[in-house]
Amino acid sequence: MKTQRDSAVEDFAPALITWQKRHGRHDLPWQQTRDPYAVWLSEIMLQQTQVTAVIPYYRRFLERFPTIRALAAAPADDVLALWSGLGYYSRARNLHRAAQIMVAEHSGQFPQTLDAVMALPGIGRSTAAAILVFAFGQRGAILDGNVKRVLSRVRGIAGYPGESAVTAQLWAEAELLLAKTGLRAYTQGLMDLGATVCARRNPRCAECPVQKLCVAYKSGRTAELPMPKPRKVLPQRRTQMLILQRAGEVMLEKRPSSGIWGGLWCFPETDADADAAAVCAQRYSATVELRETLPVIAHGFTHYHLDILPQPALVKSWPLRAAEPGLIWLSIEEAGEAAIPTPVRSILAQLARSRGS
Ligand code: SF4
Repeated sequence: MKTQRDSAVEDFAPALITWQKRHGRHDLPWQQTRDPYAVWLSEIMLQQTQVTAVIPYYRRFLERFPTIRALAAAPADDVLALWSGLGYYSRARNLHRAAQIMVAEHSGQFPQTLDAVMALPGIGRSTAAAILVFAFGQRGAILDGNVKRVLSRVRGIAGYPGESAVTAQLWAEAELLLAKTGLRAYTQGLMDLGATVCARRNPRCAECPVQKLCVAYKSGRTAELPMPKPRKVLPQRRTQMLILQRAGEVMLEKRPSSGIWGGLWCFPETDADADAAAVCAQRYSATVELRETLPVIAHGFTHYHLDILPQPALVKSWPLRAAEPGLIWLSIEEAGEAAIPTPVRSILAQLARSRGS
């Protein structure tokens, strides 16, 4: 008796091939050729560009450089000029270099083994396999972005497909499901299914040839799979800002030129749990009277989140000179005009509000 998993594996390729023959795409220009050079060109152009945008570029490129040798002999500027508007120009530079390598090392012929094709610049495992399938009818699994989505859903693979362990699992599934024969229709079918039916949002499952085998469909998880890139959990840090106030003015300190908020004016900082009065005594020989803390300001940096605890303190005695280097006393309005970071601006706004209330 066949297990459910066995039947899903066995039935996948035949269902896809039958569907591709009836409903898949057959009239794309690169489907009318088995010239590995033209197939390679189409696969590279399609990597980051939509089919409709690729077609005129593909035609012009082949007209101007009809062979590997013609491309290899062209000046790099001419190749880039023909690519102009397609974007991701490293693709054009890699094509050009790969053509030159083929002339130098493969007598101007496209290599026919996976390793040799993958050794060329700009060709990964999936693209190499697609070229070998379409040009030479070889048997090999592909796993581009669309196929990752289809297989994540069909096989119910959780996790972000960009993670290496998940990618490895998807490659294993791609190999397992691979058709035994009819590789061109099968590979094209996978591409067509991903591009036209199993869309990222709102897949058209009612029209899908592998619906009966699809774990995501059967378990109602088509919106959940494949899982998105996990958001990095950033470390949380805390700091305390001392809002020293004297005669209607607040004190700002110039920060060192390097580090966060380098060179900006800021309230003096100290450890979140430090005794603010003791810090003022030690740092400025000042006596202060602490007031109620203001609401915490949450500030996000690229690498961490910072919670800022604003601690107002009324200055009772200030033995330092008024114009101490790197320190400045300003009214709240004047401070708002200075070169200050956003959280300081927020604290000034809180002070202005509490003064008005
Ligand atoms: Fe994609 Fe839906 Fe088909 Fe599953 S049933 S492969 S989710 S289109």
